[in-house]
Amino acid sequence: MKRTLLKGGSLLTMDPALGELRGDVLIGDDRILDVAPELAESGVDEVVDAADAIVLPGLVDCHNHLWQAPVRGLASGCWGREYFGVVHPLAGRFRPRDMHAATFGAAAELLLNGVTTVFDFCHATNTPEHAEASLAALDAAGIRAVFGFCFRPRPEAGTSAFDSLDERIAVLTRLAAERDAGQRVRLGVALNNIDHVTPETHAKEVLAARELGLVSSVHSNLPGQVTLASELGVLGPDLLWVHAGPASDAELGLLREAGGTIVSTPQIEAGQMGFVPVLGRARQHGVPVVLGVDATSAVKGDLLAQLRIGHVVSRITEWLVERQQGRPGVRTPSFPSMDAPTLLRLATLDAARALGLADRVGSLTPGKQADVLVLRTGPFGLGGGTAADHVVFQASPRDVDLVFVDGVARVRGGELTGVDTAAMRADLDAARDWLLGTDPDSEWAPLTAEERRNYELGQGKAAPA
Ligand SMILES: [Zn+2]
Repeated sequence: MKRTLLKGGSLLTMDPALGELRGDVLIGDDRILDVAPELAESGVDEVVDAADAIVLPGLVDCHNHLWQAPVRGLASGCWGREYFGVVHPLAGRFRPRDMHAATFGAAAELLLNGVTTVFDFCHATNTPEHAEASLAALDAAGIRAVFGFCFRPRPEAGTSAFDSLDERIAVLTRLAAERDAGQRVRLGVALNNIDHVTPETHAKEVLAARELGLVSSVHSNLPGQVTLASELGVLGPDLLWVHAGPASDAELGLLREAGGTIVSTPQIEAGQMGFVPVLGRARQHGVPVVLGVDATSAVKGDLLAQLRIGHVVSRITEWLVERQQGRPGVRTPSFPSMDAPTLLRLATLDAARALGLADRVGSLTPGKQADVLVLRTGPFGLGGGTAADHVVFQASPRDVDLVFVDGVARVRGGELTGVDTAAMRADLDAARDWLLGTDPDSEWAPLTAEERRNYELGQGKAAPA
């Protein structure tokens, strides 16, 4: 057995029984063997001096579209629904090799930034081969993932072999059967937006995922959708509601009763989508809420940034509540403040629970898989702050030193291990040129302004006036 000892770190175990301590973490092969103030070095293959580091579970990103990696930055300046017209038409253009390049590159970036588990909400499962390419890329990158197999038809991909829901469910069933529940990369479902399908189809999608024992995820950008799902009888703890900002208080109550988790992506929600992230309100109503990066065509694959932005937007909500109630500057006792330990729990243990993985990851608990992040505190140290405050308010991806997934160091000294980064970059650039029509061999012309606009309007056609 290969044993690695992380020595003398500030440990944020996220395990309620272990709490915070200064001490050691012993990794044996793919597992955490022990966590204690002092562990013996005998029989250990490698000792990592963690005296100037914070050691915590790898971060868990519950919502990310890895397919968008080749066009990072393309949608950063978008406003509201413009994103749909700029980015989403490209999903139909992907070849399987582009899916591999995108998914591998996006996973590599997440690992570099301390994320060890991701829910990959795919919009471009255009053929079975596309899904297989995504899964192969996740396997190769070494990240832990729930691959959100997409139920969305892509007529613009020019294939008719894969455009009925029944065919998609059949392929999903086959792919899920090929992987056992203990595997690092497993299947989940990326549901269609509820307003893009009939209620009957929505129910069929959710029940198909549930029958296979898979977690599923749905974007919810309109009020009334939780109510509809409740009336259809399909609410449940295996369903991740992405955004859900417009959900009413009554709908949050429905989610609390039926189970289910909200995934907030605060940077995209506040910066592009134009609604107040539901983070604080969800906690006020006792609904589990976790975090995601979301569209990497617009924002960096950096969950640490989402923690900080999540804190800011929660505070804004608090200030507004206080002012509306005539108590500016006076805390609302019933409004749960979003402090650093809470935010870290949302991005580790709670997130693992939402993905059905809490028995395996999400905390530094002996017996769990060794998904571990070692963050250096840098030349200035912890100063007067706590370790949790440091991670949320001071740390950035440049502080990521070591990242273990299943006990394998995927990042060491802040660099990816075993990755030909020049080849990865070349694959991403080639995919970008194909998708945007700038490759002379590409069969796609650059999108016209009119095409973008039509797509944007089409995406929003079910929205209220
Ligand atoms: Zn999304």
